[in-house]
Amino acid sequence: MKFTEEQINRYSRQIILPGFGGKGQRKISAARVFVMGAGGLGSPAAVYLAAAGVGTIGLADFDRVELNNLQRQILHRTGDVGLPKVESGKRTLESLNPEVNVQIYSERVNSANIREIIKNYDLVLDGSDNFPTRFLVNDACFFERKTLISGAILRFDGQLSTYKPHAGKPCYRCLFPEPPPPGAVPSCQEAGVLGAVAGIIGLLQANEALKEILGIGESMAGRFLMFNALTLTFQEIKISKNPDCLLCGENPTLKELIEYPHSCQV
Ligand SMILES: [Zn+2]
Repeated sequence: MKFTEEQINRYSRQIILPGFGGKGQRKISAARVFVMGAGGLGSPAAVYLAAAGVGTIGLADFDRVELNNLQRQILHRTGDVGLPKVESGKRTLESLNPEVNVQIYSERVNSANIREIIKNYDLVLDGSDNFPTRFLVNDACFFERKTLISGAILRFDGQLSTYKPHAGKPCYRCLFPEPPPPGAVPSCQEAGVLGAVAGIIGLLQANEALKEILGIGESMAGRFLMFNALTLTFQEIKISKNPDCLLCGENPTLKELIEYPHSCQV
């Protein structure tokens, strides 16, 4: 694949980076990244992936844009209120970088369709805001052997890790075997979230996705990052594969996707 002059110009500030070059840009252009959720995390992540020139971005969300989303969900504009999030998201990404192929999924991603969807991607970035989806995405990535870059936010706090059970690294269930009971952890709707926290964690997800595509730096697989905005501190713990993991352990009991009930969460 040869780059046009316009492409070289557009990506020049990253092409000149050590370890990047035309080879790196070719990897980025060929990459296919699936983004679960066009909300607080998926928005900043998808914007930066599109800006970097990721060839194909899959965007899944069944919600419509609401006014109270705009405080953090930067894919959407005031005039988009009422539109399906994937539609306004696609328009924003394509206006930023017309070279990016944006595939949209406006139906609810569930156990019946998720494996077929993520099969077509190299990498999955989870920006969902509820436990049933987070477990579904983790399990589907395990079965399809896809690297999962997972982020979560609440109030002034954020978390991030990369899960690669197919490469001997832990999965999400190695840390959290089962979802908490409904109501045990408040949702952002109940507890609030600072918009900038969504931006920080979403951008860290995009950063890790670009590193995984390029094969540079140190992966977040086997590492779990916690962020607090009020103290502005990052704390990292090492995590390892749990031999008793229900999904990726030595005697797994989970052999197929299960769907936990969606409670009152949005
Ligand atoms: Zn596991």
